Amino acid sequence: MEMFRFTKAVDVPQAVQAGAQAKTAQQGAQVRFIAGGTTLLDLMKLNVERPAVVVDINRLPLDKVEKLPNGGLKIGALVRNSDLAHDPIVQRDYSVLSQALLSGASAQLRNMATTGGNLLQRTRCVYFRNDAMACNKREPGSGCSAIEGENRTLAILGGSKDCIATNPSDMNVALTALEAVVHIQGAKGERDVPIGEFFLVPGSTPQRENVLEPGDLITYVTLPPPKTNTKQVYLKLRDRASYEFALASAAIVVEVSDGKISYARVAMGGVATKPWRSVEAERVLLSKGLDAKVFRQAAEAALHGAVPQSENGFKVELAKRCVVHALGMATG
Ligand code: SF4
Repeated sequence: MEMFRFTKAVDVPQAVQAGAQAKTAQQGAQVRFIAGGTTLLDLMKLNVERPAVVVDINRLPLDKVEKLPNGGLKIGALVRNSDLAHDPIVQRDYSVLSQALLSGASAQLRNMATTGGNLLQRTRCVYFRNDAMACNKREPGSGCSAIEGENRTLAILGGSKDCIATNPSDMNVALTALEAVVHIQGAKGERDVPIGEFFLVPGSTPQRENVLEPGDLITYVTLPPPKTNTKQVYLKLRDRASYEFALASAAIVVEVSDGKISYARVAMGGVATKPWRSVEAERVLLSKGLDAKVFRQAAEAALHGAVPQSENGFKVELAKRCVVHALGMATG
């Protein structure tokens, strides 16, 4: 681990100022905000993350889950994953989020990990964490060891010739199905970004995973008012039953009226370079009956354009079955 400067912020303006100052104080210096530290500390020990300044944001007043006047929900960036998963409103109105959070990591990690940190969770690609190997995400321009190497767990959707790393978060998949909005504060002010626009596919710049600028702080996430009578399911398929990342997952939010699907949101995890919403699958489902053939057509649409790598061709069928099964569970 390299030397870094450690500071603490007590409110949002101070944190944002610390981020901005850190950038100007030293040319090219990197600032990282630390909350639970469940990703950042690991990566600093591995020399993957080498920030010049680490700003502790644990004292910021961003640890509440609050109902909004419009009926939606405001989730502070510092709300711990375990608190969010067990929040009564989340369990009642946004159960896909609770299910996704509880399927991830271990109880100890969920007690530390925060909403903001989970949004920024880094890939589990083995080459990203090994600084002896080429990795465009860690060292732009160095190459991608995974394309000709170990890629069984990596992406079949959204990849490029420069990176096929998956986004490892379960929470992000549920937030995508719920159409969350990410609220950001930075040196240039505040802005709100729909989650569908927050994450970036790698293209030729895999080191850029989202729209955050240096020094930007995620302050909270909002969810729209819950749709009445929706059924919500998060189904996660993995190599072992706990403390494991998804090979394929599906977050489903559906509403059924008079035997037909009147509302559908489908998002997938474990198979793509970002949380992957499939509007194509949603279109197939809309106004259709609860029919296994329709579910399969939706799954085919969701995986249309998948590009399997040398070791992960099995994910195409696995992801389709995951979507079909999750739709079956959600619609009873
Ligand atoms: Fe690095 Fe992405 Fe290639 Fe993995 S897939 S080695 S993270 S560039």
